[in-house]
Amino acid sequence: MTSPPPPAETAAAENLVIAMDGPSGAGKSSVSRAVAIRLRLRYLDTGAMYRAVTWWMLEHRIDIHDPAAVAAVSDRPRLAVGTDPAEPTIQVDGHDVAAPIRSRAVSAAVSPVAAVPAVRTILVALQREIIGTGGIVVEGRDIGTVVAPHAPVKVFLTANPTIRAQRRTDELRHDPDATVALTEAELARRDVIDSSREASPLARAAD
Ligand code: C5P
Repeated sequence: MTSPPPPAETAAAENLVIAMDGPSGAGKSSVSRAVAIRLRLRYLDTGAMYRAVTWWMLEHRIDIHDPAAVAAVSDRPRLAVGTDPAEPTIQVDGHDVAAPIRSRAVSAAVSPVAAVPAVRTILVALQREIIGTGGIVVEGRDIGTVVAPHAPVKVFLTANPTIRAQRRTDELRHDPDATVALTEAELARRDVIDSSREASPLARAAD
């Protein structure tokens, strides 16, 4: 039996790259996954990759506030990333880290790690390898500007800071210390680091 031809919109999307950038908690993941499922594209969460490397740094007791120490071991974590939008997966050195990378400890440490150029060079190369010939929605901070500057579709998604904090706090409901006010302060701190770092800061692409 032959399968029916895909709808025209998925055929057209086969090599499409959709870049979805913006700050934390704006709704990038929900929108990216829904679009990828609708258009039968793959999905890549680049934030999860920076979080996974950060988890590894914390596990190995690397001083994340020492950029030279982070850079020196930046090629050691072995990442494996699954791009099914219905069930994205991420492993480091064979460990499933999907849950621990969402902890507050990792959230607090990820921006300094992501600001280290050596970390970005390695992860951007891996991201481009995964993007390959396209057919993917990629979310992050520098996708439309650095990782896939020729992506034909670029979205910069943002939202009111309190709404963003509310959304992130809802995701941390198992953590009794996570209040909206605290999360909002943490997000604001991360926004400053992500937007002001020298290496590929969070920015809306000119196009
Ligand atoms: O999207 P998420 O909040 O999980 O990203 C975690 C952190 O990873 C961001 O605060 C940022 O420091 C870093 N990041 C980045 N570049 C990307 C994606 C995430 O620097 N493309």
